[in-house]
Amino acid sequence: MITVRGYAAHDPKSPLVPYSFTRREPGPRDVQIEILYAGICHSDLHQAHDDWGGALYPMVPGHEIVGRVVKVGAEVKKLRAGELAGVGCMVDSCRACASCDESLEQYCEKGMTPTYNGRTRDGKELTFGGYSEQIVVDDRFVVKIPEGMALEGVAPLLCAGITSYSPLRHWNVGPGQKVGVIGLGGLGHMGVKLAKAMGAHVVMITTSPDKAKDATRLGADEVLLSNDAASMKAHKRSFDFLLNTVPVAHDMNPYLALLKRDRTMCLVGVLTEITPPLRGGALIGGRRSVSGSSIGGMAETQEMIDFCAAKNIVSDVEVIPIHQVNEAYVRLVKNDVKYRFVIDIASLRS
Ligand code: NAP
Ligand code: ZN
Ligand code: ZN
Repeated sequence: MITVRGYAAHDPKSPLVPYSFTRREPGPRDVQIEILYAGICHSDLHQAHDDWGGALYPMVPGHEIVGRVVKVGAEVKKLRAGELAGVGCMVDSCRACASCDESLEQYCEKGMTPTYNGRTRDGKELTFGGYSEQIVVDDRFVVKIPEGMALEGVAPLLCAGITSYSPLRHWNVGPGQKVGVIGLGGLGHMGVKLAKAMGAHVVMITTSPDKAKDATRLGADEVLLSNDAASMKAHKRSFDFLLNTVPVAHDMNPYLALLKRDRTMCLVGVLTEITPPLRGGALIGGRRSVSGSSIGGMAETQEMIDFCAAKNIVSDVEVIPIHQVNEAYVRLVKNDVKYRFVIDIASLRS
């Protein structure tokens, strides 16, 4: 067993604290990674606080992981010791269902194994995430990171990046389309960069007027303030696709009114309920759809990393030492981050 230091939540209310635990020695298909950076996703906060119910403690969050391979098992072909690797939101799946067959492991019919706040497939062990020194993961769930990218900005690609990339690809976002990204946070700022790189006309839809300049710098062609009724009216029925990253319940009806006929708003924010309710007319009057999307499969995650490497895209980050993680959580709730906190895992070792 490998002894690893990390930070864990022990209940929904208390701050994260230092925590030592063990990981398995790498088996024949495993990759052992020394973690360099771990992003802080809003989902870490939802889960540490048990917003979704069923949280498993102790919980070592972190599913935006980038690091260097220390060791690989005898059957691992795609990575070697010394190379850069990434791990996202899942570390296993059934590998036999229709979704797994299509490398849509996130939709595994038997349930994917989350990187943390889950159990190994035999149900015996808890999984522990990236706020830790090392991780051991089956090679199917590890992606290759090319050398030369700014690694602190790469970590968030493993969740914020792929969660934005996958729906943009699924709904064929590209040139000639007007695409709205709702919420300029971790996911939203990646949504803007990626939709722009795919050739769309991108509109940042935000509640925060002070983020307008940043949105333009990130690649938005226009900024739309969602609490300005007149501007919302001016953009009515003009969008080809909306990516909604808002993490809390909010009125979606005004956003739906922005869509052209037959178009979709895709939710990625994990809302526990939709309040106020959707009005039937908002969907019917334009044959509009509301959909949802979960991260991305492993093949698509590698495709996204390669796309970002080719287009020179990384996340905009604020790097923190791990002992500031609780402060970062408080700031995240206050919508005070530009645009992703990333933990420098070297701070755990010093
Ligand atoms: P984040 O960094 O906190 O960003 C969320 C943004 O939403 C904020 O910056 C804010 O942008 C906007 N917002 C916040 N409260 C709002 C409100 N009441 N009304 C309207 N807009 C509001 O969060 P994140 O890390 O990007 O995560 C976003 C959501 O995606 C979370 O629920 C997370 O759990 C989920 N998630 C889902 C998946 C998936 O697979 N589907 C993967 C990762 C994360 P403005 O200031 O611009 O308005
Ligand atoms: Zn995430
Ligand atoms: Zn499966």
